[in-house]
Amino acid sequence: MTHSQAARDIDTSRPHSARMYDYYLGGKDHFEVDKQAAERVAEAYPAIFVCARENRAFMHRATRVLAREHGIRQWLDIGTGIPTEPNLHQVAQSVVPDARVVYADNDPLVLKYAERLMRSTSEGRTTYIEADVNDPQALLTAPELAEVLDLSRPVALSLNALMHFVTDAQDPYGIVRRLLDALPSGSALALSHCTPDFDPATWQKVTDIYTSAGTPVRFRSREDVARFFDGLELLDPGVTVGHRWRPDATDGDVPTDAEVSLWTGVGIKP
Ligand code: SAH
Repeated sequence: MTHSQAARDIDTSRPHSARMYDYYLGGKDHFEVDKQAAERVAEAYPAIFVCARENRAFMHRATRVLAREHGIRQWLDIGTGIPTEPNLHQVAQSVVPDARVVYADNDPLVLKYAERLMRSTSEGRTTYIEADVNDPQALLTAPELAEVLDLSRPVALSLNALMHFVTDAQDPYGIVRRLLDALPSGSALALSHCTPDFDPATWQKVTDIYTSAGTPVRFRSREDVARFFDGLELLDPGVTVGHRWRPDATDGDVPTDAEVSLWTGVGIKP
């Protein structure tokens, strides 16, 4: 797709999840319609900003742990979102300068900013593909992916705040299994997923806001999130609330589980 096609495809008449998330993170890459929907979410769930921040922090820690302790040198990050510094490749390349990262997202707006995702170290390499996680085969066989990733060597599959946009009817577990099936032993799954577990009434409101904005969502319980890791060896401390997954020494206030409302985990393929 060319950039002008992408510009035509950017629909500013209704809110988009990537642009609402950019608003939660304090970014500038969203439109009025996204801001309004994001503010409706924030009215129902004022801690959405904490959730978004802790989600990024989990991605940073999981990426560093996989690079430092599990020899991961390649990442496939699906649902990457509008670039927010540091992006995954910057975190990975700060540990292993030759890290290779393929980013994918299905929102045409992300393509517009993709060059920010491609400012790699000279030893490393990154690319961006516009792709839908609901079609894992197309994603895995994209020629750009093969140029950057060697699928005979371990790859970390990074699905952060993505799978709650895949409803049960879209076969979320089958999708993740098909992606992992394409990766060799020693590969990893790093996943974060919003949950209604700590405050069901609030999350019902958030579900309704997204759904009425045209984005179906399915926030899942801990048990349902843990199922994404079936067949993998979960790293300690298992599936846990985002800020409790190997926290760095913190000097600020520790949020509550209800504020964070994200299940996170990292598993290794045996
Ligand atoms: N992974 C980033 C951004 C999460 S926001 C982070 O954790 O910080 C969720 C992203 O998933 C958005 O950018 C949205 O466009 C993307 N997304 C939603 N449904 C998708 C799908 N079916 N295929 C690919 N990307 C999708």
